[in-house]
Amino acid sequence: MMFRHPVRNLAVALFWIIAVGLSSPRRADAAWIDTWRTANPVWRGVHVLCHGNATLAELQNSLPALASAGVNVLILEVNYGFAFESHPELRSGEDVGKSEAAAFAKACRDKGIRVVPQFSSLGHQSWAKTTFPLLTRYPDLDETPGKFPGNDGIYCRSWCPQNPRVNELVFPLIDEIINAFDADALHVGMDEVFLIASEHCPRCKGGDPATLFAKSVNDLHGHIVDRRRVEMLMWGDRLLDAAACGMGEWEAAKNGTHRAAQGIPKDIIICDWHYELLSKYPGKPADYLSVPYLLAKGFRVWPSGWKNIPAIEAFVDSASKHRSERLLGYLVTTWGAVRPSELATWEPLKAGFERTKK
Ligand SMILES: [Zn+2]
Repeated sequence: MMFRHPVRNLAVALFWIIAVGLSSPRRADAAWIDTWRTANPVWRGVHVLCHGNATLAELQNSLPALASAGVNVLILEVNYGFAFESHPELRSGEDVGKSEAAAFAKACRDKGIRVVPQFSSLGHQSWAKTTFPLLTRYPDLDETPGKFPGNDGIYCRSWCPQNPRVNELVFPLIDEIINAFDADALHVGMDEVFLIASEHCPRCKGGDPATLFAKSVNDLHGHIVDRRRVEMLMWGDRLLDAAACGMGEWEAAKNGTHRAAQGIPKDIIICDWHYELLSKYPGKPADYLSVPYLLAKGFRVWPSGWKNIPAIEAFVDSASKHRSERLLGYLVTTWGAVRPSELATWEPLKAGFERTKK
C-alpha cells in the first residue's frame, strides 16, 4: 500500500533525491555541449589509446593541429590507466591523474573538441599474455576462472556479466573517469567478446550469449545514461549478424550475440568499425551492409575506419548513401599506427574526413 507509511516513503524519496543528486554530473561547462552539438552536425572523431599523462601531454600539444584538421571528437581509451581513488588496486601503472585529466579536457573544449573517455567493458580484459587489473586482482570475476593459464588459446579474457561484484567494482571506476574529464559521454568498448556464456563459468554455462551480452549493455546503460545522464557509445561488432552482413567473426558476430540488438536501448551510439575492402570479407558482400542494418534497428551509427585508404574511401562512400540524421560522420581509429603528435596530418585521417559529407 503506497500511503500506508508516509514518513517512511518520504524518507525513501529523500534518500533517492539526494543519492541521485550527488551522483549526477555537475559539469563545469554544462552549456558547452549544447553549443558543440549545434556547431557539429557531422562528427569527425579520432580514437587514441591512452598511456597515461604522457599521451595527454602529446595530444595537448597537437590540439590546434587536430582542430584545424577537422577533429571535433576525441575518443580516449583510458581503461585501467587512471589514478583511481575508489580502487587504487585497479590502477594499471600508466595512470592519468585527476588534475591532468581535468586540464586536458578543458584544453580540448577550448579547441571545440569533445572528449569521450573509454572504459573497455566485458571483453578485452587482457591483451596477449597480460591480464588487466580487474581480473588479476579479482580472478574470481573471470568468465573462465582458472582456465587458459598465460592466456594461451584465447583472444582476450572477459569478466562475468552475471557476477554482481563486477558492477560494484567497475561503476566507481567509470564514475571517476567521467568526473575527472567532466565528460558528457563515455565509450564502453564491448567489442570482440568471444568468451561469453562459457562452459567454464558456473553462472553462465548454458546461457544465451545474446541475453548475457544485452544484460551487460543494459547494466552499463542503467548507470551511465540513466543515472549519470551522459551519452553511451560502444563498438558495433557484437550486434551484427555476420551472415546477414557478409562479414567475418571479428567485425560481426558468429557467436550469437547479435540478437542482443533487439534488447538494448536505441540511444546508444554504435561505432561501426570496418577496416578492409569488401572483397576481403568472407561473404564478399555487395556493400557495407552493417550501416543500414544498424540504422534500421534505430541506433545512431558512427562509421569507423583505420589505415587502409581504399577501404576508408569505400566505406565512407557506402555509408554516405544512407541519408539519416542518425548517421554521425566518421571516426578514425589509430591502434598505434600513428603517433598522436602526427595524427593531424595522417593520410588515413585526411582521406576519411575529406569524403565525409557535411
Ligand atoms: Zn559468467
